[in-house]
Amino acid sequence: MKEDELVEDGYAKARLACDFAGGDHTKRYVFYRDINQAALYEDQELEERFDEALETHEFEVWYQPKYSVSGAEMVGSEALVRWRNKDGSLISPGRFIPLFEKNGMIARLDEYMFRSVCCQQAKWKEEGYPILPVSVNLSRASLYYSDLVEKYENIIKEYQLDARYVQIEVTESAMEGKTDILKVLGQFRKIGVQILMDDFGTGYSSLAVLNTRCFDTLKLDKSLIDHIGEEKGETLLYHVISMGKQLGLNITAEGVENTMQLEYLQKLHCDDIQGFLFARPMPKADFEKEMKKKCEEQIRE
Ligand code: C2E
Ligand code: MG
Ligand code: MG
Repeated sequence: MKEDELVEDGYAKARLACDFAGGDHTKRYVFYRDINQAALYEDQELEERFDEALETHEFEVWYQPKYSVSGAEMVGSEALVRWRNKDGSLISPGRFIPLFEKNGMIARLDEYMFRSVCCQQAKWKEEGYPILPVSVNLSRASLYYSDLVEKYENIIKEYQLDARYVQIEVTESAMEGKTDILKVLGQFRKIGVQILMDDFGTGYSSLAVLNTRCFDTLKLDKSLIDHIGEEKGETLLYHVISMGKQLGLNITAEGVENTMQLEYLQKLHCDDIQGFLFARPMPKADFEKEMKKKCEEQIRE
């Protein structure tokens, strides 16, 4: 603090530095002068726009298809959020999800996405599309609301959906040592909603979590897939997949980008593939075309 600076101003700066450090436990201190002011103002602006953006449907659901390992069959998709600015440009989730996770707003966004997916599934059912499961991401902060399962169950009922068709993805690190979260996941499974463990292989892979029987699917993170072609990477993947299968889990490989990776995953009898090799996340209209195309192909075969 400068000598002639007001205590209130000094305090405000210290608070700002504190907020900036956020949940990063690796930082023991942060200097106010090192804060990226522009990014901070941008964060503030995003926070201020959040309520209106929810109301005016600026958040869009994009879908990334998942395919059987042979590539022949579409088996479902993952719903991924995109924020459409008024000028038509898009903001990617990497820019705002961590921010909304820090300030707790994420729970409302996750619920919005879940509701949007249920609503869309009901429309597709009515329009005669084949109904395939769509998985929705839930952040750790969303899992702490006591009435969460009841609320989500009511949304499913409101749209008269079979709970099999909306799945929940929870990132691996969210449940590390968290028995209360595992209980919530158990409640979801009881009402028929499948749970997918996302990003497996990143952060602190807790093998004990696999033994909790709270999951239906293991989603192997791209960082594991990237090492296909290397002896050690392939050995690790071989053992992770056979362990998961022996535990009765469905295995989805995420971030599959080339045929060499695909062929290795086919050899290991991985179940499903999600990655740019087959399809990128796409807006609803493109996803509908993809569903139609796949349907026609399957009918012809
Ligand atoms: P995620 O749930 O692990 O989603 C997969 C991410 O990997 C997506 O990025 C997808 O576009 C990307 N991806 C898929 N295949 C490939 C590939 O072959 N190569 C590469 N390079 N990338 C691939 P996206 O859409 O940017 O989402 C990033 C993360 O943001 C998601 O990771 C998820 O953690 C979070 N997210 C997205 N939507 C939501 C949401 O509605 N709620 C919450 N809580 N988090 C969300
Ligand atoms: Mg995911
Ligand atoms: Mg993932």
